Amino acid sequence: MDKITKNKVVEIKYSIYDENGDLIEKSESFKYIHGYNNIISGLEEELEGLEVGDKKEIIIPPEKGYGDYNIEAVQTLPIDVFEGFDIKEGEIYYAQSDKGDIIQFRVIKIDKLNNEVVLDFNHPFSGKTLKFDIEVKSIRDATSEELEHGHLH
Ligand code: ZN
Repeated sequence: MDKITKNKVVEIKYSIYDENGDLIEKSESFKYIHGYNNIISGLEEELEGLEVGDKKEIIIPPEKGYGDYNIEAVQTLPIDVFEGFDIKEGEIYYAQSDKGDIIQFRVIKIDKLNNEVVLDFNHPFSGKTLKFDIEVKSIRDATSEELEHGHLH
């Protein structure tokens, strides 16, 4: 039977819980190429060697997950940058950087008086110890084209 090793396309089912045991994210089918830091390091390490049908509970501290909460990632910008966009406090939005990367941020505060917005660029799971419940659904060899492109086809 195939084991999860480098260059395998792995499909897992997962649920993520925070420190309070609250479910914060789940997926019935998540696929990635193993061995290339496509997923957080704590998860990739623990999935190594598993087979289809294996289930595992994995505790991941921030340093092997989404990192520590960084106060410098909270930034105040002029409200003009959102001209034409309907943003709301507490909501999470996505933007594209000049390099084409997807950037995620949460609007903490809209200060209309001072024409400023306060944004938090930390990942919502940063600073948290997470519990993953995973099940391996499928494993196959990545094609040479997938390895070359660095993504699934
Ligand atoms: Zn491609």
